Amino acid sequence: MAGEPQADCLFCKIVAGDVPATVVRETDTTVAFRDINPQAPTHVLVIPRAHHPNAAALAEAAPDVLAVMMREAREIAAGDGIEGTGYRVVFNTGSGAGQTVFHVHAHVLGGRGLEWPPG
Ligand code: 5GP
Ligand code: ZN
Repeated sequence: MAGEPQADCLFCKIVAGDVPATVVRETDTTVAFRDINPQAPTHVLVIPRAHHPNAAALAEAAPDVLAVMMREAREIAAGDGIEGTGYRVVFNTGSGAGQTVFHVHAHVLGGRGLEWPPG
């Protein structure tokens, strides 16, 4: 069923506390933690507690949670002192776009100059 935990999902395991993560913020519906392989001084992943494969699926099933994720991105940027200089929020969607974990996550990146367009 949509949103149910998936036994083989790494991020469901992080939500359950079965895989450790450096958690920076939590809400009733989201968890945010530092990326294990950071691509910038700030690189935090914001995920819904419920399992949805990508941002499009989440937008269909629970758009309010997508809004919480964006609000959390701003709070993370503020907490890391980069709200003023700017930050990027990325949803890789599909393997061709670099998605490797199929539990939707927003990458919050900042703390260095970010090139545009991204690679
Ligand atoms: P994607 O490539 O799907 O957009 O992003 C997946 C992200 O998850 C990658 O940036 C990767 O470094 C991160 N990641 C993969 N495994 C783990 C883990 O076990 N812990 C944490 N904190 N991040 C992970
Ligand atoms: Zn999951």
